[in-house]
Amino acid sequence: MKCWRWLGIILLAAAPPLAAEELFELKPVADGVYAAIAKPATKVNCNGAVILLDDGVMLVDTFSKPSAARALMEQIKSVTPKPVKYVVDTHFHWDHYYGNEVYLGAWPAGVEIISSEATRQNIEQRGIPRVKREILEVPKEIETLKADLAKATDATKKAVIQENLRQTEAYLAELKAMRVTLPTLTFDRSLILYRQSRTVEILYLGKGHTDGDAVVYLPKEKVIITGDALHGWTPYMGDSYPYDWIRMLEATEKLDFDYIIGGHGGVMRGKGQFQMWEQYFRDLLAETAAAYAQGATLEETRQRVAAALVPKYTGKMPATFPQDVVGNIEKAYRVVSGATN
Ligand SMILES: [Zn+2]
Repeated sequence: MKCWRWLGIILLAAAPPLAAEELFELKPVADGVYAAIAKPATKVNCNGAVILLDDGVMLVDTFSKPSAARALMEQIKSVTPKPVKYVVDTHFHWDHYYGNEVYLGAWPAGVEIISSEATRQNIEQRGIPRVKREILEVPKEIETLKADLAKATDATKKAVIQENLRQTEAYLAELKAMRVTLPTLTFDRSLILYRQSRTVEILYLGKGHTDGDAVVYLPKEKVIITGDALHGWTPYMGDSYPYDWIRMLEATEKLDFDYIIGGHGGVMRGKGQFQMWEQYFRDLLAETAAAYAQGATLEETRQRVAAALVPKYTGKMPATFPQDVVGNIEKAYRVVSGATN
């Protein structure tokens, strides 16, 4: 989680305004299918997907705050008068489900919030404690930003910190008022909606980024929505199962699709990103295992593996990769040494 926040702050250099239409760019991907590509914000939002059905709208993921979910609900009125009927939470990370509460009562008949059973359990068992912890931690971030602001002399830097501070304070207020809302409909392996105009397959294809990742697949339109199991940034591995993740990606890649809406970054095409991530995880685990086998400490492993991976993945991963890779090496070291799954 931390790495997304950090990246969000870096990306904020442009200090975007946060009017509803400024949070997301709605990009048509297929007829009646849109990617809601998140714009930079201090508390990063994930991407969402908007799928028009015959009788309503399905949304995938609900972002990092209720106000962002509300903003997208307003924004999609520009493409359809249909009400939101289904929401899918791809997994239990804060920036993908904190907007859930917006959808209860948003439509007279109610909205079904769909996730894997594991994701529902994860929100209940780990998500809720993390929200409570965040309410304790964010005031410290605010204090740090205030201290930075007092020290800053450069006008541009000052403006960036001021905007970060404004967004972080607004975020804390939302967090305190938020009612964590659990999914209302869960599945183990798959849940398929058959409509006249299209079929939507919500699939669990194995452990990966978490133990409950859902991917949403539109077979006719050849579009797949992957949450954080695959996206355009460096993978975040904190709650992941790295060896399983490779197999999960291999299984997902076998589906017939042209377009990928990932949890972060732009819309992708083809299978290249799948193959790159699979290779990255293989390299990360193999390099870490080799260092561990030779008696390397965690610190030595960080240096050795980064030296091997940074040149290989520069240009493939985002510009922040040299920093992002450190957390991934630490995770791989814990996995290889048996300290975690
Ligand atoms: Zn995630």
